[in-house]
Amino acid sequence: MLSRRARNISPSPTLSIDAKAQEMKRQGIDVITFGVGEPDFDTPEHIKEAGIAAIREGFTKYTPSNGIVDLKEAIAEKLRMENDLDYKPGCILVSMGAKHSLYNAILTLVDDGDEVIVPAPYWVSYTEQVKLAGGIPVVVPTLEQHDFKLTRSQLEGAVTKRTKALILNSPNNPTGAVYTKEELEAIAGVCEQHGIYVISDEVYEKLIYDGARHVSIASLGPEIKKLTVTINGVSKAFAMTGWRIGYAAAEKEIIEAMGALQSHATSSAASMCQKASVKALTGPDDAVVAMVREFAARRDYIVDRLNSMQGVTARRPQGAFYVFPNITGLYGRVVGGRHISDDTTLAEALLEVAKVAVVPGVAFGWPGNLRFSYATSMEKIKAGLDRIEAVL
Ligand SMILES: *Cc1c(COP(=O)(O)O)cnc(C)c1O
Repeated sequence: MLSRRARNISPSPTLSIDAKAQEMKRQGIDVITFGVGEPDFDTPEHIKEAGIAAIREGFTKYTPSNGIVDLKEAIAEKLRMENDLDYKPGCILVSMGAKHSLYNAILTLVDDGDEVIVPAPYWVSYTEQVKLAGGIPVVVPTLEQHDFKLTRSQLEGAVTKRTKALILNSPNNPTGAVYTKEELEAIAGVCEQHGIYVISDEVYEKLIYDGARHVSIASLGPEIKKLTVTINGVSKAFAMTGWRIGYAAAEKEIIEAMGALQSHATSSAASMCQKASVKALTGPDDAVVAMVREFAARRDYIVDRLNSMQGVTARRPQGAFYVFPNITGLYGRVVGGRHISDDTTLAEALLEVAKVAVVPGVAFGWPGNLRFSYATSMEKIKAGLDRIEAVL
């Protein structure tokens, strides 16, 4: 019999929708997918070159398991310059993607029976990682009219004696919500008062629009900094999802424990990918700027088109590359011969009838909405929305 741990988790639903769409594509069906959670841009050339150079120079062996010094220094410098965070390289851990950093943090902080507050809608892996650690995810619904952002009173209402940590994600996947400094201060106040750790997932920080500003919660003061594990990575900012480099910054005691855990579970991240990531963090930013400009144009287009469809309402998100429209206005309708009773039946109808893949909100603990990723070309976005409009 499989372990309780293994039986207690479900596979990533975003990846399984994508798998179904990929399978249809393999059968020759022309599927347009809004399902993917990665930039459609190529990794910038100068970053690729750094990875290739590392291989040519024979930099292909184990590295220190916490990460190479030049990458940890580049991360420390980035955190200082961009996030107003002062961490020594010894307070930084390089992992195999931000997802791995998150898992290290959760395994390091969460004991059996500890509660971890997860605001919904949430990224799919948070609850499963908490469960794997033996913890109890306490899902706290936000309000759509508050832009899906957790408020002080919602947080206070969820705190118990067993609360160990809060997982915060700004800019948010799937909603695109970006917390302001004031909103984060309110949350930090509650966490300080109760001694709650904050695991702050900031992987979308560079994908931000309308002049919104990303604020790292750990930068708000020494007390909240002590309680925070800041998580970030190169995947989303530099179109480097396949290189698998993420990192965490926190108090030395936490990082050392996370590093010890990682040293036994996986050892270091790939040597050449660490070198490429040094280049990503220290090199020119023009590729990122161009990517953000393109994402912003796509966002505006997709939000306007969705809002023009009867029964669909979409907020204009300030960050990441997702739109998360409410589709409850379509319940009870018949789409392509299928009765729409919830977000899942609509997503299935759209895939089967319109040949368009989207992710049902229930995957993010939020039935009633659909997640559209706009990390796909404007041409495909137009064609996909035309198809949806036609079947609706
Ligand atoms: C993509 C994503 C990650 C994981 O990024 P990797 O660095 O590729 O592991 C983490 N958090 C959120 C919210 C994401 O969307």
